[in-house]
Amino acid sequence: MNKLDILKQYFGYATFREGQEVLIDSILKGQDALGIMPTGAGKSICYQVPALLLPGITLVVSPLISLMKDQVQALNQAGIHAAYINSSLSEAQISKALRLAAAGQYKIIYVAPERLETHGFMQFARQVEISMVTVDEAHCISQWGQDFRPSYLKIVQFISSLKKPPIISAFTATATENVKEDIVCVLGLKSPQVLVTGFDRKNLYYAVESSGKKDSYVLNYIREHDGESGIIYCATRKNVDMLCDKLSAEGVAVTKYHAGLSGEERRQNQEDFIYDQSPVMVATNAFGMGIDKSNVRYVIHYNMPQSLENYYQEAGRAGRDGGKAECILLYSAQDVMINRFLLDNKEQKGEYTQEELDAIAERDEERLRTMIYYCLTTRCLREYILRYFGEIGAGACGNCRNCLREYEEIDVTKEAVRIIEGILEVRQRYGINVIAGMLAGENRAKLREYRVSEYASFGSLKGVRETEIKQIINEMLVENLLLTTNDKYATLKITSEAEDVLQGERKVILRQLKQIPGKEGSGTERKKGKSKPRKSDILNSRGLELFETLRYLRTEIAREENMPPYIIFSDKTLVDMCVKVPLNRDEMLTVSGVGTSKFERYGRRFLHEIEEYTGGMHEKFYFGEADEM
Ligand code: ADP
Ligand code: ZN
Repeated sequence: MNKLDILKQYFGYATFREGQEVLIDSILKGQDALGIMPTGAGKSICYQVPALLLPGITLVVSPLISLMKDQVQALNQAGIHAAYINSSLSEAQISKALRLAAAGQYKIIYVAPERLETHGFMQFARQVEISMVTVDEAHCISQWGQDFRPSYLKIVQFISSLKKPPIISAFTATATENVKEDIVCVLGLKSPQVLVTGFDRKNLYYAVESSGKKDSYVLNYIREHDGESGIIYCATRKNVDMLCDKLSAEGVAVTKYHAGLSGEERRQNQEDFIYDQSPVMVATNAFGMGIDKSNVRYVIHYNMPQSLENYYQEAGRAGRDGGKAECILLYSAQDVMINRFLLDNKEQKGEYTQEELDAIAERDEERLRTMIYYCLTTRCLREYILRYFGEIGAGACGNCRNCLREYEEIDVTKEAVRIIEGILEVRQRYGINVIAGMLAGENRAKLREYRVSEYASFGSLKGVRETEIKQIINEMLVENLLLTTNDKYATLKITSEAEDVLQGERKVILRQLKQIPGKEGSGTERKKGKSKPRKSDILNSRGLELFETLRYLRTEIAREENMPPYIIFSDKTLVDMCVKVPLNRDEMLTVSGVGTSKFERYGRRFLHEIEEYTGGMHEKFYFGEADEM
């Protein structure tokens, strides 16, 4: 068998995705490999396919126990012999697994890093041929990253103790240069094939909504996406409890997760979510590490997170199956305060000098600021994210809230000049509230206290509303004409680029939502973008009904087999079945995600259901052309 046969037969896919083939080929040639790919890009295939082609065993080191179980279940479903060895097993189970492994029972073995140095494991490793050691979540080896795990350093010792040096392949979604260098250097990769794929997740739609009524926004959203699975992240446990109660009072099948719940509750709720008993999860950021649920159709942030890194990671849990999914952030100015409070009260793990603590606080503040600007920008959200992670996007993606709204552009250069002059006049000592109030010529107690009426700039923008002045200041912040200090006073300063505005060499343009007459508040409705279609855009009503029927069957099988539904077949696979309407084995095998082994397990039952529904006729259940989804 070659790699394509394996992909088709075991995983049910016809072609490799961007980057997968390069890594697989280099591994098969015996070269070390490092794959840096965003969540959902398909890293697992990159080592699972060669693992089946290499002569010996592949060990996969992974820090996440729940993920190991998931992966092994999925592999077994696909007809691949795999096992995991970690602290969730008893000693007796571990010995048994190792015995079977030594007897050549498994091609792929997942193992926790702590396990590597145990006597039993070492003994096993010396008896067998280990062709490859794969290091998953490889950034955990770097002390630069946020997730450094000392136990990862054991991997190196372990590898060097093996009789024959194995191929090493490492994978991560963390792209910073420091982390990359660390992985290559600490793991001792020998002239590795390094592959970094784009960080863009094209199937994700991004939006920031500043609706005042977050609860009703969430409730409406869930109702409009009935039956779909989603995660709602809140900043605090209190918010989680409150929102979860409210939703469940409205009849939503919802569950929750935060560090204040007992271990048993957390386990149960997580399982309810994974098994789609409660498809909606309300949680703090404690939830999600190691959750591999592929059919999460939306991630809503009820509060703004503390950094864009956090946001991208949490939002990235949507749409792992490659199907269309939405990432929505509900922004309110209050969130900034909540986050400052959380940062001020953050407990530091480990011992730090005052200097180090200051540096950390400054870095946190800077990250928070980047996050705030994401919420404020009126330009392409995807572009903003990609730029932050060091990639240049296409300018306007056509699949985010900002790209799909209509804005009018207003030249506010004159106002910007007044703002810069005002900031300079007060010698860059005040924050946005004082500056905006002063320029508008307001007469609040706070402004009187600072005696702002004594400055020449007082009232220099009289007639412009204070909120508009703030909007312009925000735009100037986003454009790096102004900046704020990294302390809680957030004092406004001007940057060297502001000089160009004073010199008349640069314009400042404010983008404001176009108002449609008769439609208050909201901007123009979403234009039809070039985005990938949702399932309800692909399937007509008969098709959607078939989808529901198949989904029901999937739930039934999941229950019988005690297996998460998405491991049986992903949503995407079900949609593809509704498009292709397979009526026999061969047709079923052309469906994306249906490999031979899965067909043998479940194919007949799905065929039967489709046959019942269609009466054995090839009906068209979709609109227009069936594009690649
Ligand atoms: P990562 O580990 O990079 O987050 P996964 O390995 O979990 O991503 O893969 C994400 C999803 O993409 C899985 O559902 C997987 O089956 C699917 N996938 C991977 N490779 C392909 C491919 N070549 N064609 C279609 N789907 C794929
Ligand atoms: Zn965009």
